[in-house]
Amino acid sequence: MFSTDIAIIGGGPVGIFAAFQAGMLGMKAHLFESSNALGGQCAALYAEKPIYDIPGLPEVKAIDLVQNLIKQASPFKPQYHTLAEVIHLSRQEGRWLLESSSHLKVAAKAVLITAGGGLLVPNKPPLEKISEFELSGSIAYKVDSIEEYRDKDVLIAGGRDSAADWVNSLCGIARKIFFVHRREKFKCTLSSLEKITEACEKGLVEMICPAQILGIEGENGVIEKVKIGFPDKSEREVLVDKVLFFFGLKTALGPIGSWGIKLHSGRIIVEQETCQTNLSGIYAAGDIAFYPGKLKLILSGFSEVATALHHAYSEVFPGQAMHLQHSTDKGLPSA
Ligand SMILES: Cc1cc2nc3c(=O)[nH]c(=O)nc-3n(C[C@H](O)[C@H](O)[C@H](O)COP(=O)(O)OP(=O)(O)OC[C@H]3O[C@@H](n4cnc5c(N)ncnc54)[C@H](O)[C@@H]3O)c2cc1C
Repeated sequence: MFSTDIAIIGGGPVGIFAAFQAGMLGMKAHLFESSNALGGQCAALYAEKPIYDIPGLPEVKAIDLVQNLIKQASPFKPQYHTLAEVIHLSRQEGRWLLESSSHLKVAAKAVLITAGGGLLVPNKPPLEKISEFELSGSIAYKVDSIEEYRDKDVLIAGGRDSAADWVNSLCGIARKIFFVHRREKFKCTLSSLEKITEACEKGLVEMICPAQILGIEGENGVIEKVKIGFPDKSEREVLVDKVLFFFGLKTALGPIGSWGIKLHSGRIIVEQETCQTNLSGIYAAGDIAFYPGKLKLILSGFSEVATALHHAYSEVFPGQAMHLQHSTDKGLPSA
């Protein structure tokens, strides 16, 4: 079992920033992330997209923001545990005891929950052999690297912004994109749709709608063809190398809902002045935290982290007065 000052639940941008902020306050931190990588929504949903509203960074790719946050926290050597969903939280001998799905146990003086929308799980179509294609990377629900799609024939299915955005982002990189949606109308911005129409005129994209994917055929994870069905019961086959499904994500609060923490519509109620929950020593920040007027933005999460950890100082260092110190005065630990 590990012992630490602060346990952070969730390795999205807000959780990683918490690892930095904890270090600045002299606190040891262990961070649990349920998925196999840090970065939360930034890494899982829009890694390659530029973000424009991070103060001081006029434009930053989501994945680069994540990498920068990890670099910023690195002087403090936080302990990151990926594939470690926190499933139990209990009070034992004056400490908070956390247990993960990977059987890791950490005793902490205070806990900061930065679990975002909870566990992010993509909605999957009910197709045969889907896991075989997922394992080989032929079927995916997000784009990890644009280069994987270079000069490939790609089918993108979905009707919302994420699907349309990726049609445009991969246009000119993929050899050809088949854009399949079950309805005639798309729920995406008009400008995205206009760009796609232009790409269709150039032969780079073919829109197939209204239509549904009936099945995917292939061997050993390699796709041979995708069967598509139309409302008049006719069928068509397309030959593609890769398929991307953007059918939205399910978010599940998971075990957090059973820890006795007060919730509002699946989010954790915090007192805005401290970011503390109804349980003393348990804080929340980022998308998971709720208070009247809350904005679900990365910059709000960063500010909440600072509030929470400055307040948690008295639990981590009882009897020691907290003096606000600027980073310019404090500096960083030498390497
Ligand atoms: C397409 C898109 C574009 C966006 N663009 C912007 C933008 O331009 N500007 C902006 O400010 N915001 C933007 N956002 C919103 C922004 O991504 C979120 O506000 C931000 O990711 C919240 O960060 P977070 O760390 O609180 O949560 P998340 O990023 O959701 O990370 C939470 C992490 O906690 C993990 N987790 C959950 N439960 C557990 C558990 N029990 N144990 C361990 N780990 C757990 C999850 O796996 C996840 O990795 C965008 C969102 C989307 C979807």
